[in-house]
Amino acid sequence: MRVAVIDRDKCQPKRCAYECIKYCPGVRMGDETITKDEQGRPVISETLCTGCGICVKKCPFHAISIVNLPEELGKPIHTFGVNAFRVFGLPVPKKGVVGIIGPNGIGKTTVMSIVAGRLVPNLGNPNKKVSWDELIELFRGQEIQTHLEALSKGELRVAFKPQNVDLIQKNFNGTVKGLLEETHERNVDLAPLELDEILDRDISDISGGELQRVAIAATLQKKADLYFFDEPSSYLDARQRLSIAKVIRKLSENRKVILVEHDLAVLDYLSDYVHVMYGKGGVYGIVSSLKSVRVGINEFLEGYLRAENMRFRDHAMKFELKPPAEEWKGKPYATIPKFIKKYEGFVLKVDGGELVEGEVIGIVGPNAIGKSTFMRVLAGVEKPTEGEIKDTYKISYKPQYVSADFDGTVKQLITKTEMNKELFEYFLKKEIIDLYDKNVNELSGGEIQRVAVALALSRDADLYLLDEPSAFLDVEQRIRFAEITKKITEKRRSATMVVDHDIVFQDYVSNRLMVFEGVPGKEGRAHSPESMHSGMNKFLKKMEITYRRDPETGRPRANKPKSQKDIEQKQEGEYYYSF
Ligand code: ADP
Ligand code: ADP
Ligand code: SF4
Ligand code: SF4
Repeated sequence: MRVAVIDRDKCQPKRCAYECIKYCPGVRMGDETITKDEQGRPVISETLCTGCGICVKKCPFHAISIVNLPEELGKPIHTFGVNAFRVFGLPVPKKGVVGIIGPNGIGKTTVMSIVAGRLVPNLGNPNKKVSWDELIELFRGQEIQTHLEALSKGELRVAFKPQNVDLIQKNFNGTVKGLLEETHERNVDLAPLELDEILDRDISDISGGELQRVAIAATLQKKADLYFFDEPSSYLDARQRLSIAKVIRKLSENRKVILVEHDLAVLDYLSDYVHVMYGKGGVYGIVSSLKSVRVGINEFLEGYLRAENMRFRDHAMKFELKPPAEEWKGKPYATIPKFIKKYEGFVLKVDGGELVEGEVIGIVGPNAIGKSTFMRVLAGVEKPTEGEIKDTYKISYKPQYVSADFDGTVKQLITKTEMNKELFEYFLKKEIIDLYDKNVNELSGGEIQRVAVALALSRDADLYLLDEPSAFLDVEQRIRFAEITKKITEKRRSATMVVDHDIVFQDYVSNRLMVFEGVPGKEGRAHSPESMHSGMNKFLKKMEITYRRDPETGRPRANKPKSQKDIEQKQEGEYYYSF
C-alpha cells in the first residue's frame, strides 16, 4: 500500500518548475502518475506511483513524502484530502484513563475528535460520506463497536479540554466566575485547582497557567460519559501538574477519560492504559493496540511494539540507572553572583554559587517564584536591585516566550544567525531541517520552540540559559533536546542552565539542580546549585511526592500516594532515585 503525501504549506507550484512531474518516470512513460488539479497543484496517483522516490528528491521545497505501508493495516480511518495525512485505527475509551503517547502531527487530535463524535471519518476517501452503519461494521467485534453505536444514536455526552486554551480568551467575554457558572452542570470539588483568588478576574487578563486550570475546571463540571484532556499540563508548574493529575484521576474512578500528554511523569501517573501512536508526522499515523501504562510507555521509549512486532524507531531512549555522583566533579568554570531583584510586591534573593565545566544545571520551583527573573538578570536583560552582574561571560539566552518576528524562511534565519556551524551541523540541523522551507511567522508553537532552542545552543557563548525549552515539544523532541543539550555542553566545556517543569526532562538533562523556594508572587529564594539527589529531595518533599525508577528503562515514575513505596520512601526521606 502506497501513501503519497504533499505538504500543501511547502508545495509552491508558482515558484518551482514542476520538477515532481518533469522527472517522474511514470509521467515520462505517458502515464498520469502525477497530474495537476484546477488550481495547478500536483496530484499523485497512489495506484500508478511505483514508489521510486525521484519526486521526493527533486522537489525544491521538500514537499513530497512517499511511504510504503503493510497491506495488513487495511483502510485508513480518515484522511484530510487527496495526498493528505491519513490515520489508521482508533483509541478505545475505557473506564479509567486511556493515555495517548506519540509525536506532534501524528494524528492524536484527529483520532480524539473522531472518538468524541466531532469529526465524521471518511475511511480514507475524502469525497465519500461514510454512514455510521458502515463504520460500526468496520469495527464489528472490536471493543470500540459499542462506543460507535452509542455515538451514532446520539446517546453519548462528551466533554473536551482542547489543547489550545488561548481559544477560550477569544470565545468568552467575562470573568472566571462567569465562565464557571456558565459551564456548571454538576458539582465537583475544584479546590485543588486553586482558582479562588482569580474568580473575579477577567478571562482576558489571566495567565496561561491560570487559563489552563480554568479550562480543566470547566471540563470537569460538565455532565458527560467521556472526557477528553488534550495536553492539560501546558503552562503548569510541577506541583500544579500533580494537582490536576489528582482531580482527573478522581474523575476517572467511575468515568471514561482519554488523555494526550507530553509530560511523561504526568502521563504515567494519570493513565491506566496507553495507546502508542507512531508513523511519520504530517504523513500518516497508526494507533497501537491498548497496552498497560507501564508497558506502553516502556515500548514507546524502546521504539518497539511487542504485540505488533513493530519497530518504529531505530534506537531506544535510555535513562541513567545510577544516581549521578553526590557532587558533580569538574573544573570550576563560572560564578553566579549573589544578588537581589525587586519588583513592586515581589523580591527574589539569589544565593549564588559555582558552576563547573561541562555541566547542566536544572532549575526547578513553582510558577511566579522568580525563575525567569533570575534568567533575565543573568542574561543582562534586567539589572539586579542589589549586587552586580559583570559581563564576564558571553551569554546565549532562550527566553520563556519565543516569538516569530522574522520575515523569511527558517533556512534564511539560520543563514543570518552567527553560530558555530560545525556543532550546528552535527547536533542540531536534523532537529529542524523539516522546517527549512517554512516561513518563520507561520510556525506552530512547538516548531518555533525547536528553532529557538536549536539557535540558542548553536551560538558561541560561555553560558547557555534555556527558559522552558520543553514547552509545546512532544515527548521524543523533549528527550532528544535534553540529550543534545547535555552533549553539546560537555563538548564545549561550557555550562547550561535550564528552567523546566517536566521532571523527566530535568532528570535526563541535568547534572545538578538549583531549587527555588518561597511564596509565589511575593518572595523567591534561589538556593545554590546542589546534587540531583539533594536537590530533588528538597523539591519533591515540598510537593509530597515520591519517585521510584522503572527497572527496565531507568525512567522516574511517580509513586501513587499512600502506596507502600510512597510510605517507605517518605519515611526514609528518599523522594528520588530509589528503585
Ligand atoms: P497531533 O494531535 O498528533 O499533533 P493532529 O491530529 O492535530 O496531530 O494532525 C495530524 C496531521 O493532520 C497534521 O499533519 C495536520 O497538519 C493534519 N491536519 C489536522 N487537521 C487538519 C485539517 N482540518 N485539514 C487538513 N489537515 C489537517
Ligand atoms: P517564574 O519564572 O518562577 O514563573 P517570574 O520570574 O516570571 O517567575 O516572576 C516572579 C514574580 O515577579 C511574579 O510575581 C511576577 O508577576 C513578577 N514580575 C516578573 N516580571 C515583572 C516585571 N517586569 N514587573 C513587575 N513584576 C514582575
Ligand atoms: Fe513544485 Fe514540489 Fe509542488 Fe511539485 S511538489 S509542484 S516540485 S513544489
Ligand atoms: Fe513518480 Fe516516483 Fe514520485 Fe511515484 S515516487 S510519483 S513514481 S517520481
